[in-house]
Amino acid sequence: MVKIIIDGKEVNAEVGDNILDAAAKNNVYIPSLCYVKGEKCLGTCRTCSVKVNGNIMAACTIPVSEGMNIEVNEPDVTDMRKALVELLFSEGNHNCPSCEKSGRCELQATGYEVDMMVSRFPYRFTPRQVDHSSKYVWLERDRCIFCQRCVDLVRDKETDQKIFSIKGRGTNARIEIDKTLADKMPAEQVRAASDLCPVGCIIDKSQGFDVPIGQRKFEIETIKERALKGSIDE
Ligand code: SF4
Ligand code: SF4
Repeated sequence: MVKIIIDGKEVNAEVGDNILDAAAKNNVYIPSLCYVKGEKCLGTCRTCSVKVNGNIMAACTIPVSEGMNIEVNEPDVTDMRKALVELLFSEGNHNCPSCEKSGRCELQATGYEVDMMVSRFPYRFTPRQVDHSSKYVWLERDRCIFCQRCVDLVRDKETDQKIFSIKGRGTNARIEIDKTLADKMPAEQVRAASDLCPVGCIIDKSQGFDVPIGQRKFEIETIKERALKGSIDE
């Protein structure tokens, strides 16, 4: 164990834990959208940014060390995390009332958690073509936040090849699916990929509003409550 300071309070943390997990074990919530507990850190969304010894860093990327001084709920850092969430909303097309993922979407739930009302950034209304071409997956590209969870963690069972990839750069970036590999995905893998996507970009074609609105996981327990229990992905 090591001793670290979170928001002025000295607490114990396990060697090997990153700041995000160590904070959660000490009942301090830090939002995150790309990190999946137990998987390698992707560090793509930066939503978990905190101050570490005075410098801004992504909490999922930094292992704890003795004496580390971490500021999570300091006003400037809190507002910066909120701005990052607002940017994600303004960059894609998010119309929650009509989205299958509403109520179980990590971006939507995080928006509530950081008290977002409306984005301070102009909405881009990015035109990105929907891809219905594979048998089981419906890709709503304009909701993708480029977290890379699917790119790194969804692979063909036989060949270990990646099924999803990001093509293009900057404003032209888009998520792509390998149709041949996707059409071999068993039903449980399609469902798992859909659940893994933190937004409503990877939609399981066989699934449609099977859990009614109002009874979905983040409508029963907030993302903060689930994060502190380590059960966001369940
Ligand atoms: S992906 Fe999430 S934030 Fe975007 S429209 Fe769907 S529910 Fe809303
Ligand atoms: S499709 Fe979903 S899981 Fe894949 S990069 Fe986009 S947001 Fe992340």
